[in-house]
Amino acid sequence: MDTGKLIIISAPSGTGKSTIINAIIGDPSLKLEFSVSATTRSPREGEENGVNYYFLTVDEFKDKIQANAFAEYEEVYAGCYYGTLKSEIERINNNGKNVILDVDVMGGINVKKLYGSHALAIFIHPPSVEVLRKRLLARATDSIEEIEKRIGKAEFEISHAQQFDRIVVNDKLETAVDEVRSLIFDFINK
Ligand code: ADP
Ligand code: 5GP
Repeated sequence: MDTGKLIIISAPSGTGKSTIINAIIGDPSLKLEFSVSATTRSPREGEENGVNYYFLTVDEFKDKIQANAFAEYEEVYAGCYYGTLKSEIERINNNGKNVILDVDVMGGINVKKLYGSHALAIFIHPPSVEVLRKRLLARATDSIEEIEKRIGKAEFEISHAQQFDRIVVNDKLETAVDEVRSLIFDFINK
C-alpha cells in the first residue's frame, strides 16, 4: 500500500465532516492520521489543544504566517483564522501514514492544487441547507449568530462542490461513512 497520500474532507460546517472522520480514522486498512490544524477560535467544551486543534492567539497565528509555516490558511470566518501546518503533514508522512485533513472548502481546493494526484479531495454534501441548520442547532456548540454565519457561507461553499474529486451526500450517516471509507481505500490502493 502506498502511504504519504492526502485525504481532504471539506463541507459546509455542520454537514458531518468530524463525525465521518471519527468513524473511519481508526480503520487499520486506511492507515490514516488526522492533521491537527491551527486556529484562533476558542476551544469548545471537550476540545483539547494539540488533539482537535492547536489553539493560537491571532498574534501567534500571524507569526506562523510570517514564518511560512502553513501549507494553506484561511480567515474562515471574520477574525477567525484556520491553517494546515506543513509540520503536521511532514510528521504524518514520516510516520508512514496517510494524512486526513478537515478543512473548509477553499482550503480543500487549495490543498488539492498543491498536492495534485497525491491528494483525494472529497466534498461532503448536506442533504439541504435546512437540514444543515437543524444539525448545527442540534449540535448546540455555537451561538445563533455563529450558526447564521456558517449557514450564510454554506451556499457559496456548495457552489464549489464540483471542483472536488468526489462528492458524498451525508444523509444517512452509515451510508456516507461506507462511501467515504471505500473511496479512500480505493485511492490509497490504486
Ligand atoms: P462538521 O464537522 O462538518 O462541522 P459535525 O460532524 O460536527 O459537522 O456534525 C454536525 C452535527 O450533525 C453533529 O451533532 C452530528 O452528530 C450530526 N450529524 C452528522 N451526520 C449526521 C447525519 N447523517 N444525520 C444526522 N445528524 C448527523
Ligand atoms: P470549526 O470551527 O467548526 O471546527 O471549523 C470551522 C471550519 O474551519 C470547518 O469548515 C473546518 O473544516 C475549517 N477548518 C479547520 N481547519 C482548517 C484548516 O486548517 N484550514 C482551513 N482552510 N479550514 C479549516
